[in-house]
Amino acid sequence: MVCAPHPEEFGGLGMDWVTHLLLWEEVAVVSLDLAMPALINVVGADLLINNAPEHIRDEYVPGLLSGEKFIAVGISEPDVGSDVAAVKTRAVRDGNDWVLNGEKTWISNGEHMDLFVCTCKTGEGELTHIAIPAGTPGMEVRGIPKMALNSQSTSQIFLADVRVPIANTVGSIGDGLKNTLVTFERARCHMAAWGYSLGRRALEESIKYSQERTQHGKQIAGHQLIAEKIATMATQIDAARLLTLRAGDMIDKGIRCDVECSMAKWYGTEIGVNTTRQAVQIHGGNGVTKEFVVERLAREAIIGPIPDGTTEIQKLLIARMLTGVQAFR
Ligand SMILES: Cc1cc2nc3c(=O)[nH]c(=O)nc-3n(C[C@H](O)[C@H](O)[C@H](O)COP(=O)(O)OP(=O)(O)OC[C@H]3O[C@@H](n4cnc5c(N)ncnc54)[C@H](O)[C@@H]3O)c2cc1C
Repeated sequence: MVCAPHPEEFGGLGMDWVTHLLLWEEVAVVSLDLAMPALINVVGADLLINNAPEHIRDEYVPGLLSGEKFIAVGISEPDVGSDVAAVKTRAVRDGNDWVLNGEKTWISNGEHMDLFVCTCKTGEGELTHIAIPAGTPGMEVRGIPKMALNSQSTSQIFLADVRVPIANTVGSIGDGLKNTLVTFERARCHMAAWGYSLGRRALEESIKYSQERTQHGKQIAGHQLIAEKIATMATQIDAARLLTLRAGDMIDKGIRCDVECSMAKWYGTEIGVNTTRQAVQIHGGNGVTKEFVVERLAREAIIGPIPDGTTEIQKLLIARMLTGVQAFR
């Protein structure tokens, strides 16, 4: 599954992104804890295949695609979230090496990673991706407990005089922001699928429960206010999936699709929150117990609108791309 959308020469299956997203949905419906590390490996491998020097690509990509290795990609910092261009972690040249200092936070796969691709400031207004193998002296990783998805690692990464060869630069010096935007397109499609996959599971559970549970002498599915919830959930999930597959199709055709990915990301993750919340409501008191899976789905869904650009940021990006008017500064 992880290797589906990558070229066969690197150990992938050479599948299109649309098929990959459909496969990824099937994993996410069962376990986001499994799907999340795969998401990071998929987009991280893509970043390496398209930009990394041969020695990094050949050492890590096959393992990432087989699931034997893990990658982490770090932009966010304690003071840098939505404002990606404000990265403070610095990489300074020293002979044939980069010397890195700074702190990254919220980094997925951090505790299990074999390779960390760190977005660093290498000059005024200049961001560069630098690959740091796990275990490099000066790099420390600490896990962050979350409200859900705790089998999947989210971490702080501290960098104190971390030294790696200049040859570990991923892409050209100064291309960090540009390459991040391409990575975001792929990641945002997965985040959209995160939302509607949880929604789909919530819907399946709600249909079953509403057929089995009776109140006021009939199945609750027969109460019109419950039927309305089921119909709305189903329609929102389909709409989110179609937005996402359109974006995936554009990626397959080599067309830049920032607007389409942003639309899919905010809509997919927000309907993930709405639909799982309605599923809890349909389950009544049972919905807040650990006995029914909708409780977990609702906790997982609430995380979705935050990573890879919050809902607010996606809306600002869409409007900026449509109007040409800068929303941020
Ligand atoms: C589970 C998880 C996994 C993550 N994985 C990674 C990872 O692997 N790598 C990585 O680099 N990062 C990762 N992140 C970080 C994630 O990308 C950031 O949390 C996200 O970009 C938001 O940044 P922030 O948390 O600093 O919030 P802030 O940027 O501080 O935003 C706080 C609030 O203000 C709003 N806001 C900010 N700016 C504006 C504005 N201009 N207009 C209107 N509203 C605004 C936001 O929408 C949000 O509601 C992860 C986060 C989570 C929760």
